[in-house]
Amino acid sequence: MKNQRMKTLNTPAGKVFLIGAGPGDPELLTIKAARVLGECDVLLVDDLADSAVLAHARPDARIVRVGKRGGCRSTPQAFIERLMRRYARAGFTVGRVKGGDPFVFGRGGEEMQAMHRAGIACEVIGGLSAGIAAPAALGVPVTHRDLACGVTLVTGHARGDGQPGRKPDWAALARTGTTLVIYMGMRKLAAITRALMAGGLPADTPACAIQNGTRASQRSVVCRLDDLAQRVIDADLRSPAIVVVGEVVSLADAGQLAGTVTRVA
Ligand code: SAH
Repeated sequence: MKNQRMKTLNTPAGKVFLIGAGPGDPELLTIKAARVLGECDVLLVDDLADSAVLAHARPDARIVRVGKRGGCRSTPQAFIERLMRRYARAGFTVGRVKGGDPFVFGRGGEEMQAMHRAGIACEVIGGLSAGIAAPAALGVPVTHRDLACGVTLVTGHARGDGQPGRKPDWAALARTGTTLVIYMGMRKLAAITRALMAGGLPADTPACAIQNGTRASQRSVVCRLDDLAQRVIDADLRSPAIVVVGEVVSLADAGQLAGTVTRVA
């Protein structure tokens, strides 16, 4: 932070970059993200962003971890946004490093709005989202001309404030004919799979759950929709995990359809 000490309140406002760190494998970071990581004075890092991507940071960059895994409670969103504003107003180039893509369930949209309200320049650097990369790592394409006319990215952990459009309508989703990619779905998995079947999805629809997708620690379960919740418990799969429901899952790497748990070397 040598040059940071020289910055004063009279310095023109800095800028905030919302940087997508990709799904886990540090090689899935974009070249642009790597370059910008190396230009930031301060990095505010989510726990889902793999620490290996910080190898691109300047040696003197201030690194602030704001994630909840590893025993700490998550840093409140308002506090993170306050830090972003404070560092940017002090003239620093701020990198907000988020897992996957900043605009896919990463609160990147909220943070961008907060910066706009504060009159702070904010640029987004997209990343490869776990909902696409984790299935791909298992050999599952989220769309396929013969099997799915599209893909729906949906959260299994919606705000419980009952406003229309904020909570997934599982019965409606069951009728879309699209692959369903469910983020944050592990805690309510049994209820979600039941709701999808009640909405008309056949019990034998191929489904999978992928923990730590694209990382060396990737583990997955591939089975029928009606078995998924129990298989996930049996295999002790936990968050962060992506759940995929749809015919495309039948293309998962051979040998996994019996519901085996695999570990990528
Ligand atoms: N912005 C991120 C998603 C953040 S929400 C992205 O675009 O990927 C957090 C959820 O993402 C987790 O609960 C999990 O459902 C999913 N997730 C993130 N990284 C993952 C990974 N490596 N493997 C499986 N799921 C992951």
